[in-house]
Amino acid sequence: MKTVQDYIRTIPDFPHEGIMFRDVTTLFNDPRGFRIAIDQLLHPYAGQPIDKVVGLEARGFILGGAIAHQLSLGFVPIRKNGKLPGKTIEQSYTLEYGEAVMEVHDDALQPGERVLLVDDLLATGGTAEAGIKLIERMGAQVMGCAFVIDLPDIGGRAKLEALGMDVHALCQFE
Ligand code: AMP
Repeated sequence: MKTVQDYIRTIPDFPHEGIMFRDVTTLFNDPRGFRIAIDQLLHPYAGQPIDKVVGLEARGFILGGAIAHQLSLGFVPIRKNGKLPGKTIEQSYTLEYGEAVMEVHDDALQPGERVLLVDDLLATGGTAEAGIKLIERMGAQVMGCAFVIDLPDIGGRAKLEALGMDVHALCQFE
């Protein structure tokens, strides 16, 4: 029986030479692969007191939308800057080369709401950390951070756990 990891395609040297791109479109493309990934991602959180699912652009939208539907919760997108139409709050974060900005609608979460944060892959943890900061700046609380893939050698899990986060990942690539 194939595991979630078996459905993920690796494309070497994308988007830069030396990067092994872990492509989850092949996981999403397969009905069984997509279903077991969603089931396994939400499993630790089913029955937990969670109010909203927050997804990080862009693959976190596909995963987070399916999880939110399954848990009968609302979904909140965190986007790269300039894409959301309403009033937003912004958070800058460090990329491999330079800086980037993520944003969220300033009325998307209420103080005290409990949130599950979702993305496809955890590398340095910089993207997820920016998401956590946005959620916490709105007075909401991150109950868990769920990823399909963890790249443990890059240290994102350790970074998020040092922030007190519960990190859940379905598979690892060295
Ligand atoms: P980071 O902020 O370093 O944890 O990077 C995580 C974000 O970058 C996620 O939104 C991923 O989709 C993307 N990403 C980083 N490295 C890879 C990789 N090797 N393959 C696919 N996506 C990646």
